[in-house]
Amino acid sequence: METSTLIRKVHMDCPLCDKTHEVEERKRFATIILKGEEVTYEERFYFCANADTDENEFETGSMTNANLLNARNAYRVNHGLLTSDEIVAIRENYGLSQVDLARLLGWGEATISRYESKAIQDEAYDTMLRLIKDNPLIALEFLKKNAVKFSAQKRAEIKAKIIEKLDSYGKEYLTRQTFEGEYADFEEPSEANGFTILNIDKTEAVISYIAENVSNLFKVKLMKMLWYVDAFSYKLNGCAMTGMVYRHNTMGALPVGHYSLMNLEKLNVHEEESYNYEAMLHVYPTKGMDYSILSADEKKIIDKVIKKFRDYKAKDIIEYMHKEKAYIETKPGDIIPFSLAKEIREF
Ligand SMILES: [Zn+2]
Repeated sequence: METSTLIRKVHMDCPLCDKTHEVEERKRFATIILKGEEVTYEERFYFCANADTDENEFETGSMTNANLLNARNAYRVNHGLLTSDEIVAIRENYGLSQVDLARLLGWGEATISRYESKAIQDEAYDTMLRLIKDNPLIALEFLKKNAVKFSAQKRAEIKAKIIEKLDSYGKEYLTRQTFEGEYADFEEPSEANGFTILNIDKTEAVISYIAENVSNLFKVKLMKMLWYVDAFSYKLNGCAMTGMVYRHNTMGALPVGHYSLMNLEKLNVHEEESYNYEAMLHVYPTKGMDYSILSADEKKIIDKVIKKFRDYKAKDIIEYMHKEKAYIETKPGDIIPFSLAKEIREF
């Protein structure tokens, strides 16, 4: 027997020795030929200690299916194709049945069902699935193209589901476009953006990450903390993290496009009234935010900034920033160059 690991012992009717006893469920790496290619995957099987060594292993039907699914998914990962789980997720995200999604894409009715359980999709099919995954507008196009495959009622039902996705997608797209538009003058790496082109995904992740770790986070304090994250990153690595450009403001550094920044659909920002009835923007973490875009080193930088300023009130961090060279040597409205930002005091 090749190297295998015991997962658990199961009391069951053993088909090898015809007795009811404890059978070992084990796993090991196995290889299989799929589409003419050797694929390594994890396989599970049962082991009977009573049986002869030449036939002491068996699989149940569902085990065999799961093993094959693992093998196919290993092939998919090797080839950059969507896994069966990812295909299920795309379908469920639209709230569609297997048959409806297959019809929507103009495929045979059983195609999606096969991809979710039995077969590996071709590259072209994979591309189509990815297209609708990232863009409901394209799903809507497919619905138009394959309209005859549905009854009028079914078509209306599916259209409603896609439009629901489109609403949230559309809002997110528009808010990103607006924010990005503010950076039209900063499309090249320079001292203004810390030699980093604006990265909205990363900016959103940084903001949510800070909000996860700082309670009562309001806009004014967040703006300064973002500047310190970028300044600190520049000081260590010679490039900023988010790509935002900051101006000298009486309250310290303020990113270009800060109004549209706070409107980004993915951020969790709430307007709250302060004691003097001024509207204040309270920033909360975003549920389900993907932090994988932040490297371990980047998280270390953000953690350091959080540790330093976590308990600062807005006016404390403003005062602290007022003593930075970056503030003293620039005038109101000036862009704060990262050549000055990197002179921040040690903390
Ligand atoms: Zn047995």
